[in-house]
Amino acid sequence: MSIPENLADILARLSAARKAAILPAPAIHLIAISKTVDESGIRAALAAGQRGFGENRVQEAQAKFPALKTEFPDLELHLVGLLQSNKVKEAMSLFDVIVSLDRIKLADALAAERDKGATCPRLFIQVNTGEEEQKAGVLPANLEALLAHARSLKLPVEGLMCIPPAGDDAAPHFAFLLQRARDLGLSQLSMGMSGDFELAIKFGATHVRVGSAIFG
Ligand SMILES: *Cc1c(COP(=O)(O)O)cnc(C)c1O
Repeated sequence: MSIPENLADILARLSAARKAAILPAPAIHLIAISKTVDESGIRAALAAGQRGFGENRVQEAQAKFPALKTEFPDLELHLVGLLQSNKVKEAMSLFDVIVSLDRIKLADALAAERDKGATCPRLFIQVNTGEEEQKAGVLPANLEALLAHARSLKLPVEGLMCIPPAGDDAAPHFAFLLQRARDLGLSQLSMGMSGDFELAIKFGATHVRVGSAIFG
């Protein structure tokens, strides 16, 4: 299927999943993950009306998106991968949302750039719900302290993000993230990918990150 057909299919499934959810989010945003996708693929999605995109590397996004963002002012770009402290300035000038805030040091670096005049993107804290050694994200036990620190710096933290361990049942991870967001007064949840976005919507996802099901 083509990119426009894939998008139409995903949007229909998203809408059906939202209707079937027990407590559906007021709005669910489809973020098309365009890592490794070239400009023609991104343009095909834009032509079909898609405006939310996500990339996992600052450098790759810098090569693809500045001109597109000028051309499509309502394009919203999410950083969904690890952000190194030395790339903070570049990331802040390009991304509208960073969903991978995962450590105190990164919060400090974002606040420092903000204090020098940069606008801070909206932020989500990435939680390593599976407590996997190799995976990014703050451990659940350290989430509250990281959020308190970010709030003390007046950083715009809006939500939580997770990537459940491959092969695990994702449901308990999504349920956990929903519960933590509620406990902590956060309204946004970035969770669910090509294989499990309908399940994530059932658990209150506000942003689903779908790559391969759109771009192949
Ligand atoms: C690649 C990626 C996705 C999209 O994964 P698909 O399975 O291709 O939909 C979502 N989130 C993150 C953080 C990713 O790196």
